[in-house]
Amino acid sequence: MTCPVCRKPLGRNKNACSMACYSALRSNKKVCVVCDQSFYAPPSSDTKTCSTECSSENRRRKTYLKDNLALAHEKLPTHPLTGRFDTHMHAKEWVIQSPTGEIFKCRNLQNWLRENSHMYDGTLTQAVDGIMKIKYSAQGKRKKKVSQWKGWRLLEWSD
Ligand SMILES: [Zn+2]
Ligand SMILES: [Zn+2]
Repeated sequence: MTCPVCRKPLGRNKNACSMACYSALRSNKKVCVVCDQSFYAPPSSDTKTCSTECSSENRRRKTYLKDNLALAHEKLPTHPLTGRFDTHMHAKEWVIQSPTGEIFKCRNLQNWLRENSHMYDGTLTQAVDGIMKIKYSAQGKRKKKVSQWKGWRLLEWSD
């Protein structure tokens, strides 16, 4: 066993070879992100793992996460225009909220409603009409204002 701070033999001591090393150990203690064990890391070091095994495990997890994240992006509703997930902040799109509070975004409202007809009660025409009435109400174009259609709400839209 060697001192985790200075790498000298520990001798009969348990954690560090000397009081100085012990206090360094205590003040620079980190918790391994992989195995939750505490370990000594010099203040200049940005290591997050206690050992080379944990370090490679951590790297493996990171690439796994990255792959999953890429996959999650692929699973996001794709836009009919680009076929890709669009991160453009000001992309014009429809944002609607289901009766259960879920929020959906789409480029083409009619297409979306056609593809997701199992999510609402009624025909496609009724759904489009219902959402359009909310839009016209918000624009002040309707005398009889409506704010929802069968629990569905329109949060934003493109023109
Ligand atoms: Zn030491
Ligand atoms: Zn570890």
